[in-house]
Amino acid sequence: AMKSIARRSDLKAYVEKTPAIYQLLQSAAAKYVTGEKRQDGLEAGRRLVDKGYAISLEYIGENTTDVQACEAAALELSLLIQALAERKIPARVSFDLSHIGLSIDGELAYKHLTALASQAQQVGIELFVSMEESAKTDSILWIYERAAAAYANIGITLQTQLNRTTQDLNDLQPVPGRIRIVKGAYQEPEQQTIPRSSALNERYLQLVEQAIRKGHRVSIATHDESIADEVIKREWIHEPGVEFEMLYGIRPDLSSRLKNAGYPVRIYLTYGHEWYLYLCHRIAEYPPNLFQAVLDITDV
Ligand code: FAD
Repeated sequence: AMKSIARRSDLKAYVEKTPAIYQLLQSAAAKYVTGEKRQDGLEAGRRLVDKGYAISLEYIGENTTDVQACEAAALELSLLIQALAERKIPARVSFDLSHIGLSIDGELAYKHLTALASQAQQVGIELFVSMEESAKTDSILWIYERAAAAYANIGITLQTQLNRTTQDLNDLQPVPGRIRIVKGAYQEPEQQTIPRSSALNERYLQLVEQAIRKGHRVSIATHDESIADEVIKREWIHEPGVEFEMLYGIRPDLSSRLKNAGYPVRIYLTYGHEWYLYLCHRIAEYPPNLFQAVLDITDV
């Protein structure tokens, strides 16, 4: 439901023109989003790097249907890559293909993706493509596979909750890029998915094993402590290129425990004006956040 709320432009317009609500929601979002500006992401990222974390940075946005706005998003990502290189901050840059053209024309997204990959490759930065709702999976994989064949510095996110993912992972065997495994943040048609459950967790572990065995570098992107503990118990965390990755603001106790135990942990930070959208996503995947937001807002 929060997904559809995120897309209701009337609600967004209402929030934007009602200063009290705008400020309240913005303060709730501050837990998950570093700020509106590139500088906010860079500063928060630098602090985490100094503490011993690796980082990913996302400029928030999706479903952009205006060509100029897609160009602007690609430009922002390009400036981000440049800023990271200049400041020597080792970071991965993450984004949605629908932010840079997929909602208009796959070729526009492809053009932007390859231009960014070429720029990033010259400064030793890795890019990461997020996975969006299942209606887009085929086109995202198609664009990714073509781009990754030319640029080894692009990785892709796969969602455990989709039935099709085991096959998709098989098909990615010839593509050298890193694979990030997530549970999946989108509400999907029931017949195509497995809901949050121990069966889903088992499948998550199977996908991690499958990806490692096929020689991929793997990001285990979850805040589920039972999965993290299992990955350690099975010693997969010692395989080359395997790491934990978690969202900024979620389970910091778990990320610091894992880092302090000596495991590689990456924190995924976001910045941008679309913090409202990002807040809706975090609430949708974990509804208790709605209550937390109300508590934060009312300062109880
Ligand atoms: P869950 O079973 O959902 O949660 C496990 C525990 O983590 C919960 O009990 C709770 O304690 C805590 N928790 C989880 N979510 C929250 C939250 N929002 N707020 C507070 N606590 C929480 N999804 C996509 O569909 N596409 C992507 O490209 C994508 N990229 C991601 C990249 C990274 C680095 C990460 C970490 C996640 C990404 N996700 C993506 C989101 C992912 O699909 C899940 O929705 C999200 O990680 C929550 O699932 P979980 O694995 O933590 O397990």
